[in-house]
Amino acid sequence: MPIRVAIVGSGPSGFYTAEALAKSDTDCQIDIIERLPAPHGLIRYGVAPDHQTTKNVSRNFDKTAARDQVRFYGNVDVGRDISLDELRAMYDAVVIAIGSPEDNKLGIPGEDKQGVIGSAAFVGWYNGHPDFVDLDPDLDTANVCVIGNGNVAIDIARLLVKTRAELSPSDITNDALDAIEASSITDVYMLGRRGPVEAKFTNVELREMGKLEICVPQINGTLIPDAVPEELEMSDRDRRLRERNLATLRKFAPRAADELPKRVHFHFFAAPREILGGDRVEAIRMERTEVVDGRAVGTGEFFEIETSLVLPAVGYRSSGLEGLPFNDDWGVAISDDGRAGEGLYVVGWIKRGPTGVIGTNRPDGQEAAKQIIEDIPEGRKPGRAALDELLASKGVRVVDYTDWLTLDAHEQARAREGAPREKLITVAAMLGVLDSA
Ligand code: NAP
Repeated sequence: MPIRVAIVGSGPSGFYTAEALAKSDTDCQIDIIERLPAPHGLIRYGVAPDHQTTKNVSRNFDKTAARDQVRFYGNVDVGRDISLDELRAMYDAVVIAIGSPEDNKLGIPGEDKQGVIGSAAFVGWYNGHPDFVDLDPDLDTANVCVIGNGNVAIDIARLLVKTRAELSPSDITNDALDAIEASSITDVYMLGRRGPVEAKFTNVELREMGKLEICVPQINGTLIPDAVPEELEMSDRDRRLRERNLATLRKFAPRAADELPKRVHFHFFAAPREILGGDRVEAIRMERTEVVDGRAVGTGEFFEIETSLVLPAVGYRSSGLEGLPFNDDWGVAISDDGRAGEGLYVVGWIKRGPTGVIGTNRPDGQEAAKQIIEDIPEGRKPGRAALDELLASKGVRVVDYTDWLTLDAHEQARAREGAPREKLITVAAMLGVLDSA
């Protein structure tokens, strides 16, 4: 008899777990449960729309979904349609792969003003996530402040200064493309509380900032050290990567502010202290910092940047799931290297926090599969049969993978010229297409 496994979440960590289980020698029946009708989580809704090669990994997920023992249950919300406890009663193993969908907070005064939009919402908006279609960010501002020096911050900065021609071949939604084209943005400030050596963005992403059609990078060259200080302990690989970033920033330094109509300013050693204004943001107050023992420490010197749009991209967290042991301070599940209870496992960002690239989730999935197989219980639970019965009794409209392929084809067919797809951005629109198919 197969072991019956439910995976909650169809992003990279969920799909890599399904793949590892499906490719194992153990007989497994795998059901992937997803809140939205569309699968692939962070690949579809987090990866930047102009990074299509990264999104190509979803083709491997399609192959996994096409396996006989794998079934996709889209449009099923664990927490609303079925509880985690109910799921655990039905399946031999339940794997939680729900990622870190919420923003970390800055924890400074004024953060709740209109015009402060966290990266989860902002990235979700331009990527057509149904939760954020109504965000309607006001881009009628010359200056935008993006807080953070990670890849999400740099993704946002880049998207905001690209032209229609640059964005058109991506799968950014038409609404977001129109809004960015119509915006008054001329200057984007990338605000890092530490220095160029500590910046977390990767070099490919940083170099892209030097190749934009109408935007020039700006940096004060005197802030770039000649080399990564010897006393900083890190792997040779990390040192090489950081040296590469310093070299790229050095190339940016001599570029003239008026070379192109827009600018992205890399401001290092600058920590946000207060968002100023009335109900709406009018400016951000920053404190200059220095890095002491790896930490940003305020110097007591302040400056302000006028803006009506502040986009914190300072990392993500999860708020968990009822029934999942959870560390609320860290925003991750409590587990013993992924084992979170009897027959309960966690993978990906909900397990280890929001770090690493898409591929980092692969070993996570393999580890979870190994643990599940090691822990195989004596008896077997009903799995799919019980889930189908419960969902039918509640009248839940399940979207299966064949349905998804219908939606996928529909999105591709209505894409603007040169774009891979035009996403359906509401659940109702997705279900409507399926109803009329
Ligand atoms: P991240 O890499 O952890 O970067 C977060 C940034 O926010 C850091 O610069 C951090 O500064 C800063 N920060 C945190 N709290 C702050 C505060 N209170 N005030 C000011 N700054 C603050 O996170 P991320 O950019 O969200 O990315 C998440 C993961 O996805 C990363 O592993 C990233 O590489 C990956 N990702 C990869 C790609 C890609 O490969 N193209 C694209 C997007 C995301 P400190 O360093 O000082 O803490």
